[in-house]
Amino acid sequence: MDPPLATDSKHKSRRTKGKKRSRNCSSETLSKKERQSQLSSNLKRRKCESQSKPSSFLEKMRARLSGGHFRMINEKLYTCSGEEAFDYFKDDPELFNVYHTGYQEQMSHWPEQPVNIIVDWLKSHSSSLTVADFGCGNAKLARNVKNKVFSIDLVSTIPSVISCDMSNTPLESSSVDVAVFCLSLMGINYPSYLQEANRVLKPCGWLLIAEVRSRFDPNNGGADPDKFSESVRKLGFTLASKDITNKMFVLFYFKKKEKASVGTNIEWPGLKPCMYKRR
Ligand code: SAH
Repeated sequence: MDPPLATDSKHKSRRTKGKKRSRNCSSETLSKKERQSQLSSNLKRRKCESQSKPSSFLEKMRARLSGGHFRMINEKLYTCSGEEAFDYFKDDPELFNVYHTGYQEQMSHWPEQPVNIIVDWLKSHSSSLTVADFGCGNAKLARNVKNKVFSIDLVSTIPSVISCDMSNTPLESSSVDVAVFCLSLMGINYPSYLQEANRVLKPCGWLLIAEVRSRFDPNNGGADPDKFSESVRKLGFTLASKDITNKMFVLFYFKKKEKASVGTNIEWPGLKPCMYKRR
């Protein structure tokens, strides 16, 4: 396919040269006044171009740098404990904004966002259900449903968000009907987040987990979704349903047993970090 393209570009450059020549030719027939006005508009155009080029270049560089910074923070969050992540952002809360700007950029390329599926799920159930959104980010869930939502994250950029490490929340035991983890099982100690969700959930409460698909792809180093479900089952849940129809993420709908007893020595599969692509 290359040669025809190469020839085509040659033709193009020849055509351009031709065009230039004919423009010069035609300018010979212009009056002095017309030539001067053409000259000044050319100068203006060049000035504009020289001004716009560096700024768009700088913008591109800035975007690239912040994209790199986002990926660095993202990797950090997937490879440390929740406690460490909490201290990391406490030292420099601005990093949280850098992370979320990059996260939103990545999400804008997804055909469907899992948080919207969870919003729809909540809308199809009673709005009297109390929700805990573990790792809420910009609290989109709370902003889109009528339910009482406890939004939890490492940093509180919105006053209603409870800032804490979600393995240790201030929520009361057996106080919520739905616990949500939407792309937030990030720390290496993720089982402790699910244990905390189990603590705050009422009997028969829901545990909804949306995670990046590659994290549950055993053919590519991801966890076996059945092993993961088995571990959650041992924690005291039944798997009500699983949605693997989406290209980007998987969704698990667990229900807490009425009389749950937590198994001992639950083996949890490792969830591999999700490294976002450079765009
Ligand atoms: N659920 C939101 C945001 C997902 S990004 C959405 O779907 O849009 C993942 C979020 O989980 C981040 O905001 C991150 O800060 C949060 N998070 C990760 N580990 C956490 C922890 N240990 N405690 C509280 N929040 C955590």
